[in-house]
Amino acid sequence: MSDDAQQFASDNYSGICPEAFAAMEAANRGHAPAYGEDAWTIRAADALRDLFETRCEVFFAFNGTAANSLALASLCQSYHSVICADSAHVETDECGAPEFFSNGSKLLAVRTANGKLDPQAIRSVAMARSDIHFPKCRVVTLTQPTETGQVYTLDEIRAIAATCRVLGLSLHMDGSRFANACASLGCAPADMTWRAGVDVLCFGGTKNGMHAGEAVIFFDPSLAEDFGYRCKQAGQLASKMRFLAAPWVGMLESGAWLRNAAHANACARRFAEGVAGLPGIEPLFPVEANAVFLRMPPPVMEALRARGWRFYTFIAGGARFMFGWDTQGPRLDALVRDLAEACADQAESQSGTRSRPMSSS
Ligand SMILES: *Cc1c(COP(=O)(O)O)cnc(C)c1O
Repeated sequence: MSDDAQQFASDNYSGICPEAFAAMEAANRGHAPAYGEDAWTIRAADALRDLFETRCEVFFAFNGTAANSLALASLCQSYHSVICADSAHVETDECGAPEFFSNGSKLLAVRTANGKLDPQAIRSVAMARSDIHFPKCRVVTLTQPTETGQVYTLDEIRAIAATCRVLGLSLHMDGSRFANACASLGCAPADMTWRAGVDVLCFGGTKNGMHAGEAVIFFDPSLAEDFGYRCKQAGQLASKMRFLAAPWVGMLESGAWLRNAAHANACARRFAEGVAGLPGIEPLFPVEANAVFLRMPPPVMEALRARGWRFYTFIAGGARFMFGWDTQGPRLDALVRDLAEACADQAESQSGTRSRPMSSS
């Protein structure tokens, strides 16, 4: 297997999609003002305002960790706390950046089955303590879709937002795969965010097909006050901002953002269907976006790796497969075939009988 063969270990193994690349190329023809004073940045922010059907405040950060951390910091004082799911990226994969950039706001991780919070869990954390010795709950952060690929329904988001309002909490959404959630639910981005009660969204561009970049979107402009300073201080103000902004123009104006996500989701479903019923293989979560998690016997994992496949096992103990905007059908089918063969070999070595499926293609 060649080194640049397509892998499904992560959706950011992929490259840059043509629409994003073309926009960067167009932005590269000549000079433009720096630090976001350029026409591309204005056009990208306007495209996001069109997409969300509202006058939101838009900022562009280099990556998701910075976007989440700075957005949360803007909603908190250092003595506040943020309620999140135990598997949330902010809790498990950001090296303490949310706490660092908020000068110590504590993350309160709630144990969940699939990374989804619910009103009951939020209430029990937020109401457990109201004394001066505990960091005051101030924000709830949802990951949409969750790290294991579950999508909050609109009703679930609305119910959480209603709970937040009663408790005086702001609602943040980590949407590093927000486009996949939109494609999955088939709803307007506005319905999944401000119309449902979300205050701030981190909208991921990288996993959706861009080279880099996340948009931080404040639906309540008053919350965005001084956010530009926060970005600059954190090293997140791009001097050649047009190269963070132009890909958004390319993705949004062409519709690639949603096409890419729909393709990725469809590939995840195709993979899940392709491996359904293989002996020893069990889906760990319903497939609602572009992630598939499979429980599989360790020898089968080894066999897949020996065939050159890469995948992670650090979430939920299973093998994770992520499908990106550029997933190639034949490559996906090759993974299904290799997995089927590895399962058959494993079944054979256990029972001594041959049960390898006939190859059909
Ligand atoms: C990938 C990802 C991010 C962003 O990660 P960076 O590597 O900092 O860009 C944020 N949240 C979730 C749920 C992610 O999967």
